[in-house]
Amino acid sequence: MRATQILISDRRLQRRVRRLAEAIAADFAGGEVVVVGLLNGSFVFVADLVRQLHGRRLPLIVDFMTVASYGAGRRPSGRVRLLRDLSVGIRGRRVLLVDDIVDTGRTLQRVQAVLRRRQPAVLKTCVLLDKPARRAADCRVDYVGFTSPDEFVTGYGLDYAGRCREQPFVSVLPQ
Ligand code: 5GP
Ligand code: MG
Repeated sequence: MRATQILISDRRLQRRVRRLAEAIAADFAGGEVVVVGLLNGSFVFVADLVRQLHGRRLPLIVDFMTVASYGAGRRPSGRVRLLRDLSVGIRGRRVLLVDDIVDTGRTLQRVQAVLRRRQPAVLKTCVLLDKPARRAADCRVDYVGFTSPDEFVTGYGLDYAGRCREQPFVSVLPQ
């Protein structure tokens, strides 16, 4: 196996997450936000993002939904299963949906449709990584951390068959 190829270092991640938090705080100024993280992949990003949002006069509720888009490997199964729902209601509330990466867009398209039916006052979406090369479904993304090459990436919450999520950097999986 070749050595791990670091795509985005810990430092670059932290700097970018701070910038995203600044933009989000400016856009959502003046009231509470429900941050909806998609598990499992977004847990590291959400943890860093909400701490960067702290102290910006933006009261937060942080909650999670669990969805599964992949089987055990590198290819999406094409189906998006909702495994665990939110524990708070979002009707009339301002919601920031947060995911690790948008690839085909199917996951976000499905989750955005589910959330929109609950009639939030605002629904915006933030992803750490955008892989535009493989987009197949229509989904709106308001905040993007980095554009990703068309490679399978891991770390900072993103897994390969359940592993590598704890890497503090994003890397390309060795072939
Ligand atoms: P989509 O539905 O947009 O095709 O895929 C979204 C989900 O697939 C992401 O939330 C993520 O969990 C997973 N995914 C897509 N591309 C990658 C990748 O390069 N690496 C990893 N680890 N997961 C990915
Ligand atoms: Mg995911």
